[in-house]
Amino acid sequence: MSQNIEALARKTVREMTPYMSARRLGGSGDIWLNANESPFMNEYTIKSDRLNRYSTCQPDTLIGAYASYAGVDRDYVLTSRGADEGIELLIRTFCEPNKDAILYCPPTYGMYTISAQTFDVAAKQVPLKADWQLDLDAIAANLDDVKLVFVCSPNNPTGNLINRADIEALLTMTADRALVVVDEAYIDFCMDASVVDLLNQYPNLVILRTLSKAFALAGLRCGFTLANPMVIELLLKVIAPYPVPVPVADIAVEALSPAGLARTKFQVLDLSANRAYLQAGLSMLPGVKVFDGYGNYLLVEFQDSERLFKTLWDNGIILRRSPIENCIRISIGSRDECEKTLAFIRQQLA
Ligand SMILES: *Cc1c(COP(=O)(O)O)cnc(C)c1O
Repeated sequence: MSQNIEALARKTVREMTPYMSARRLGGSGDIWLNANESPFMNEYTIKSDRLNRYSTCQPDTLIGAYASYAGVDRDYVLTSRGADEGIELLIRTFCEPNKDAILYCPPTYGMYTISAQTFDVAAKQVPLKADWQLDLDAIAANLDDVKLVFVCSPNNPTGNLINRADIEALLTMTADRALVVVDEAYIDFCMDASVVDLLNQYPNLVILRTLSKAFALAGLRCGFTLANPMVIELLLKVIAPYPVPVPVADIAVEALSPAGLARTKFQVLDLSANRAYLQAGLSMLPGVKVFDGYGNYLLVEFQDSERLFKTLWDNGIILRRSPIENCIRISIGSRDECEKTLAFIRQQLA
């Protein structure tokens, strides 16, 4: 009965290491500040009266609601199973396997390279400069075969914003060659920094958005791709026929209603205050450096981050390791979670 099923899989898949999401990494604790999730559990009404029917591919009311929230025309909006599916659709739509490439700038979000790998698309890395801004000269020198350039702002895990002027320079540099995909998963925490107003000016600009972070709906799996209608129409050729489950669309529309938006605005302010609280408290501790962050997380440098990380982990405070030396990424939770985390760290460093 023994069969070697693994040998049937594509070579690429056999050789892949899966993305280690915060969930997959496990841990057991009382305080979960490792996945940039919102601490707020908001209530929704779930209707079951249309579940015998397939959903619409791009539910009208949902597209309309998000278009209005983002300040774009409806034909600039595509909705999908989280922003992660947006990343995958872009790669499948624009990159020829074993020929084209994506380009991204580490340290940044891990899914760009994983998605590229899955489809045999090369991933070129041009590291951010020491100030965590784009290295435009190095990008210019590495654009051969590149169809998609991913830029994350606010960047995960560093937390900083990418300079708007640099994004514009990148859009000009890549005109007629590649799309620039600006990942705005955390932009709801700093809306003024969005580049959404540039969509009309640069047809090669694509923006990724999600309800997972500020809208406190990570479990819903609902994201958006904003781009000019030429890009959206191509993506619609590739997307699955029924990508948005009926209850997902219903809940998302409720989240984007005037009442939902008002609640999100309040929760964003609340989390921003907690972020300031945590930044202030941690900054006072010896040997600790907190980087300014614009999302719902902070990157923090400690003298012996690995030891501290493990001690916290063993005591039920689950944070996220980062690829940046001696740095830990801390998601902003409730005030109580922030207070407990700060108190524990203060006691450890005393
Ligand atoms: C969380 C996150 C996403 C994924 O969002 P989903 O909508 O939950 O798939 C995309 N990009 C970045 C930078 C993220 O941190």
